[in-house]
Amino acid sequence: MTARAFTSASQPHVASYYAASSLPQPDHPVLQGDVLADVCVVGGGFSGLNTALELAERGLSVVLLEAHKIGWGASGRNGGQLIRGVGHGLDQFTNVIGADGVREMKLMGLEAVEIVRQRVERFQIACDLTWGYCDLANKPSDLEGFAEDAEELRGLGYRYETRLLQAHDMHTVVGSKRYVGGLIDMGSGHLHPLNLALGEAAAAQQLGVKLFEHSAVTRIDYGPEVKVHTAQGSVRAKTLVLGCNAYLNDLNPQLSGKVLPAGSYIIATEPLSEAQAHDLLPQNMAVCDQRVALDYYRLSADRRLLFGGACHYSGRDPKDIAAYMQPKMLEVFPQLAGVKIDYQWGGMIGIGANRLPQIGRLNDQPNVYYAQAYSGHGVNATHLAGKLLAEAISGQHSGGFDLFAKVPHITFPGGKHLRSPLLALGMLWHRLKELV
Ligand SMILES: Cc1cc2nc3c(=O)[nH]c(=O)nc-3n(C[C@H](O)[C@H](O)[C@H](O)COP(=O)(O)OP(=O)(O)OC[C@H]3O[C@@H](n4cnc5c(N)ncnc54)[C@H](O)[C@@H]3O)c2cc1C
Repeated sequence: MTARAFTSASQPHVASYYAASSLPQPDHPVLQGDVLADVCVVGGGFSGLNTALELAERGLSVVLLEAHKIGWGASGRNGGQLIRGVGHGLDQFTNVIGADGVREMKLMGLEAVEIVRQRVERFQIACDLTWGYCDLANKPSDLEGFAEDAEELRGLGYRYETRLLQAHDMHTVVGSKRYVGGLIDMGSGHLHPLNLALGEAAAAQQLGVKLFEHSAVTRIDYGPEVKVHTAQGSVRAKTLVLGCNAYLNDLNPQLSGKVLPAGSYIIATEPLSEAQAHDLLPQNMAVCDQRVALDYYRLSADRRLLFGGACHYSGRDPKDIAAYMQPKMLEVFPQLAGVKIDYQWGGMIGIGANRLPQIGRLNDQPNVYYAQAYSGHGVNATHLAGKLLAEAISGQHSGGFDLFAKVPHITFPGGKHLRSPLLALGMLWHRLKELV
């Protein structure tokens, strides 16, 4: 069986604060000729890099193919918020994986952050990792939900400080009057995601992974040995991993049909003074509100406000991202009127219908594994996915992989062209409900 993809010409990183402040990056070669490996990994974001790294640690030979540059996709453009947990409302899966399975998944959602912590420490990755995160309540029912979350974390033996904040305490975390409460979590935090990806690529390379950039996979011949084609070369491997998430396009329609690409956008202000930065986020925490099209923001290491939000299902980016995002930022922080916006960019989030990361292998091609659909919460979950995939591929028992693989994921109706407009309508409905 053969599948073809239509890929665009290879591109440099999008112009962003991250690209402008990234660590020195070696150029990895373009794949040429025929190469043999135990595993071929497609996608040079967190999913692909971490799977490759974990496989190499287990002694397998790995080739990783990236269409553009390492970290070119969501991994090099995101809000940099490293937040505990995977998925949303995991109790909905009790009938599939049982109450013990659900508890196990919740624990894995905590472990996912620890994998990042250990990766950064072990490989000394300079990615500005900073601890401290706060969920922001837009309405009293959000706060009730936070109290339940805090209780659940205690029950799971979470070892980091969590603290509920009432409205009158919110000024200690955020200099805005919009929120009615919060939940502080000192086991979550924020980081420079492109530098994390680049550091992980360097670590993977040290461990023997062969990295190729500007090497878009154009065709896959499936079978007991897969043959993966690029414009100038091919890889033959016993096992294939697809880690392309929202950028998978037509490379595997069976998988891309289960993911809705949605645009999210970030602006970065000019560097603020210490006093200004302290006025916005006195404890330098990352924060997110609770709406469907949420605001998420934090300070960078050089004291810029990185303000992200929106969720576009239309497939069309706003013409002027700064003009679109700045009013949202000023609603939260009117005191920033007059502050310059230095960078603006966007990227694609991969949304799944049930919001659980899709980690598994294809039924009809058991040597093809995948991880995708982190639904905007992938900085930690991609790292867990890499570990679970590597365990399963290397033949280690992975109860975690089996749990994720058991949960079914629906294909969005409407095909490639209709599913985004249909979801846009659904989201509009949810946003209208937030207003009443
Ligand atoms: C603007 C934005 C803000 C976000 N903020 C946060 C946040 O604060 N916290 C959080 O937890 N999550 C956040 N996310 C989500 C998070 O970034 C993603 O879940 C995560 O980075 C997904 O990683 P990935 O490796 O699966 O995909 P990606 O990083 O998108 O990587 C996929 C890679 O596959 C490559 N590829 C595609 N097709 C081919 C092909 N044919 N051949 C070779 N290579 C190919 C692409 O070029 C790309 O580099 C955000 C996402 C966006 C877009």
